Amino acid sequence: MSEVAIKVAVRVRPFNRRELEQNQRSIIRVLDNQSLIFDPDEDEDEFFFHGTKQTHRDITKRVKKKLTMDFDSVFNEDSVNQDIFENCMKPLVCSVMGGYNCSVFVYGATGAGKTYTMLGSDEIAGITFLTMQELFRQINEYSEERRFDIGISYLEVYNENVMNLLTKTGPLKLREDANGVVVSGLVLKQIHSAEELIELLHLGNRNRTQHPTDANAESSRSHAIFQVHIRMVDKKTSQKRTVKLSMIDLAGSERAQSTKCKGLRFKEGANINKSLLALGNCINKLADGCKHIPYRDSNLTRILKDSLGGNCQTLMIANVSPSSMTFEDTYNTLKYASRAK
Ligand code: ADP
Ligand code: MG
Repeated sequence: MSEVAIKVAVRVRPFNRRELEQNQRSIIRVLDNQSLIFDPDEDEDEFFFHGTKQTHRDITKRVKKKLTMDFDSVFNEDSVNQDIFENCMKPLVCSVMGGYNCSVFVYGATGAGKTYTMLGSDEIAGITFLTMQELFRQINEYSEERRFDIGISYLEVYNENVMNLLTKTGPLKLREDANGVVVSGLVLKQIHSAEELIELLHLGNRNRTQHPTDANAESSRSHAIFQVHIRMVDKKTSQKRTVKLSMIDLAGSERAQSTKCKGLRFKEGANINKSLLALGNCINKLADGCKHIPYRDSNLTRILKDSLGGNCQTLMIANVSPSSMTFEDTYNTLKYASRAK
């Protein structure tokens, strides 16, 4: 047993209208709140895979079929952001109040539901807002004993460049000091309520670097790192403590080659893979209890150095689409997620 707490959740999004109209098959059967079967059926339905019509059996000759997989939590198509908040995020807020740095990642291919999970939609709150609401609720509860100071930052790592999404400035340099890695020139934005945050999150999200690729017109090629810095001062003892909660909307995990990227786009793909790979390596090594963790391999892992491993709690939410059209992406995401446990 490693002492590092890494939890892995899988969320299956519902079919969208287009997928329903095309009568696409579901390749995931959620068994219960901790397990699922990938590729449950062995039927002969025809569908398109890499542009050619094939049967399901054609594909499964190449990929090991019918995998039963266990995770810390599995959320099916009917789950809502509130469920993910209640099950996964509430316990993390308690850890944060207890003095532990915590980080949450949403991982998955473009279109799998990462941003929806984090930020929600116009009508439905995402887990970022729900988590911040809970944080402020708990802060209120502790207000007799402690004084709190909340500052947030919202950064983007795009092509290994670090940008401030709230001020649209950068690239910002990273430097090491005694306390870890510091983002040069980053000024935290003070907030006093979760409501104050919403505007900032949407502003920041609009500032994210997005480029159309062949695979998906809205594909996001950047990692968005939202961090809450909580400074607590014990009113009796004047003891100070700073804790960080990080919530990261990772770039799409789809393979660069499958989007036919060339030139600059290809370089983006390579860098995205580099950051995701570095993150995967760090998480796997932490899960295995290794001593040397290669944080320095990418800017994403450098920024998160103090929020991964050690006494930190880490949650990986792997988002997948249920559709047979995304067979390969879903398979890769589940593999990545199960390796992180
Ligand atoms: P990603 O950020 O992983 O690229 P998005 O979060 O943008 O994916 O989701 C793609 C589309 O699917 C969006 O239109 C989003 O609103 C929708 N969607 C994703 N997850 C859900 C869900 N659980 N319920 C309803 N709609 C969803
Ligand atoms: Mg997104």
